[in-house]
Amino acid sequence: MPNPKTILICGGGPVGLFCALLLGRQGLSVRVFDNNPCLQDDPRAATTHPATLDVLDQAGLVEDMTRVGLVTPIFQFWDRPSGEKVAEFDHGLLKEDVKFPFVVQCEQFKTAKLIMQRLESLPNVEVLFSHAVTGLEQDGGQVRVHVDTPAGPQVHAGAYLIGADGGRSVVRKQAGVAFEGFTWEERFLVLTTPFDFQAQRGYCERSYFADPDEWCNCFKVSADGPPGLWRTVFPARQDESVEEIMSDASAQKRLQKFFPAGRDYEIVHRNLYVTHQRVASTFRQGRVLLAGDSAHVNNSIGGMGLNGGLQDAANVSEKLARVMLNGESDRLLDLYSLQRRTVSIEFVQAQSIANKKRLEEKDPVERMKTLGDLGRTAADPEKARQFLLRSAMVSLQRRAASIQLEDA
Ligand SMILES: Cc1cc2nc3c(=O)[nH]c(=O)nc-3n(C[C@H](O)[C@H](O)[C@H](O)COP(=O)(O)OP(=O)(O)OC[C@H]3O[C@@H](n4cnc5c(N)ncnc54)[C@H](O)[C@@H]3O)c2cc1C
Repeated sequence: MPNPKTILICGGGPVGLFCALLLGRQGLSVRVFDNNPCLQDDPRAATTHPATLDVLDQAGLVEDMTRVGLVTPIFQFWDRPSGEKVAEFDHGLLKEDVKFPFVVQCEQFKTAKLIMQRLESLPNVEVLFSHAVTGLEQDGGQVRVHVDTPAGPQVHAGAYLIGADGGRSVVRKQAGVAFEGFTWEERFLVLTTPFDFQAQRGYCERSYFADPDEWCNCFKVSADGPPGLWRTVFPARQDESVEEIMSDASAQKRLQKFFPAGRDYEIVHRNLYVTHQRVASTFRQGRVLLAGDSAHVNNSIGGMGLNGGLQDAANVSEKLARVMLNGESDRLLDLYSLQRRTVSIEFVQAQSIANKKRLEEKDPVERMKTLGDLGRTAADPEKARQFLLRSAMVSLQRRAASIQLEDA
């Protein structure tokens, strides 16, 4: 029998699973549908910021994440053409502001796995793999989703549906919500290597390289344990074919330009991503709520996409539980949309676009000014703290908490 109080979640990525955990822990009945046959070994996100660690700590996840990931208090900016370090920031400056004054580099499949392990002890949460949501309809009383399952097509009913089904969200499209923004011309190429950039080059675990021709991000993940792997991210021009970009010759050339090694790099993974800056026109459409990439996508410089999604999950779950368990007004869900959509635009979109611009700036005068400002900011503890409050998404969370419906 369908339970009209069930919360349906489309998408068993980290955001959908985290929603399921937060709602399930409060005793609510939750059903998650994911179209994959099992959890994916997804190599995308790794950087988990202090503000998000606070949110994950509600479910006791941080200790496990620090065990399977890397604790990294410091990040650096470098000027690639001159080879000089421009700025270094230490999250230790946030020790009075946050519980965890560091970033944890934890691959997103590890975070998802840790959440999944906790879900297994909650009998009120079902995670149904190989279940693809194909459509939905809603009325005043319930929402129904159409699902392709190994046993054939099914219809599931619930009180609310959270669309956490990624950037191409079927839920968002079926709910008729626009995804406003643009797509970058260049794709983002990730080349992963065991080459130890810290030992060989003195770069820290999160290093950003400005270059007017071709920027680069270089960061470390723990992978299967020490010594870990290094991911380098580069822009791939529009006029380069996929075959060209992914070829050994081109991959080696890209890496050697930044980090001449005198020998070929071992490259263990290569991935190419089309990158967008988009935000849904609303995060609530009646009984349908959007969270994570289904609600907003951005370039990965600064590592804010999944962080924003996990923060959405905490925000929407807290409000949904109050509506479902305490009988509070469902206007709370409008507040969810207002708070999270506002900060997606004001902070994540603005900051991720600015991060890219800072690394790729071509105008020599503007470039010198931008990098000089960054160095001066890092050298002044109070300015550096303000910079870190923003990059660590603390200011974003504070701003979200300050927004009320009458602000609309
Ligand atoms: C190169 C790169 C690096 C990144 N680095 C960072 C970083 O360091 N920090 C950071 O915060 N973010 C980062 N991101 C962004 C991050 O990967 C995403 O924001 C994150 O994956 C969003 O999680 P999600 O759960 O919302 O969506 P997803 O991870 O996309 O999960 C959606 C799930 O829904 C399922 N699904 C889709 N459609 C359906 C359907 N119709 N029915 C059922 N299931 C469905 C999918 O199979 C998937 O399992 C990076 C992204 C890239 C590309």
